[in-house]
Amino acid sequence: MPPLKVLILGGSAEASALARELADDPRYHATLSLAGRTRLPALPPIAYRIGGFGGVSGLIAYLQNASVDAIIDATHPFAHRISSNAIAAAKAAAVPFLAIRRPAWRPEPSDRWEVVADLAAAAKALGETPKRVFLTIGRNELAPFREAPWHFYLIRSVEAPEPALLPPRAEVITARGPFAAEAEQALLLAHEIEVLVTKNSGGSATYGKILAARQLGLPVVMVARPPLPEADSVEEVGQALAWLARQHARRAAAFGEG
Ligand code: NAP
Repeated sequence: MPPLKVLILGGSAEASALARELADDPRYHATLSLAGRTRLPALPPIAYRIGGFGGVSGLIAYLQNASVDAIIDATHPFAHRISSNAIAAAKAAAVPFLAIRRPAWRPEPSDRWEVVADLAAAAKALGETPKRVFLTIGRNELAPFREAPWHFYLIRSVEAPEPALLPPRAEVITARGPFAAEAEQALLLAHEIEVLVTKNSGGSATYGKILAARQLGLPVVMVARPPLPEADSVEEVGQALAWLARQHARRAAAFGEG
């Protein structure tokens, strides 16, 4: 039987980890798909492609042309368009689909979270009084914070935002996680941060800032995850590997190699 052709939709730590796991496994031929947002992405040890597919119809065509046998959505929890598209395309092309969805962070009783639906609501939640804000939402969605220019923003992203996209009072730190809680606490103190704004990304790599805010008793404006259509999902890469092994075994049985 030829190897199972797996399409991994990437852009997350889980996608990179899955690519590493599949790289040397002869049961699979895996391709990682990246959106192309990062100028210098860390390239995977497997085949990869970069750029959008052209909506649901483009993705269906890709699945058919590349004879994809299984699709794993390992995109970031806030990448809701590609996730919805992938669910629809997988269904239309009858390709088995699994999403890796890391659990959302949950507040502890002492946490001072204000949960908001989107970034516009997050900017509003900061209020009218100027504050010193730690903004960790990436570099592409700063527009709502330009509408609240009276705050100071310490912005951390993997790559620097375009200067024209910054709010007027901003300082940029470029860094890639993981971030330890002690270092996050020191950063918050050094910049006299009064409030943290973050997406509820989940996972451990960027949880340090949540711990640091808890330790310092700081408020957090927490952007809730966008809703997604129902689909089969797991929380961890190991579970996705087990699912893939089952897909492989099913195909092998169909090929009479059971
Ligand atoms: P999105 O809004 O869900 O997707 C917008 C469009 O980008 C999609 O319709 C698709 O274009 C293309 N796209 C997205 N992910 C793709 C992938 N893995 N391979 C090929 N095309 C892809 O996504 P986003 O929020 O802009 O995120 C873009 C990428 O950054 C994703 O890979 C995501 O995992 C990563 N990321 C996002 C966030 C976040 O907070 N949103 C954070 C960290 C990393 P077509 O319709 O043309 O196919």
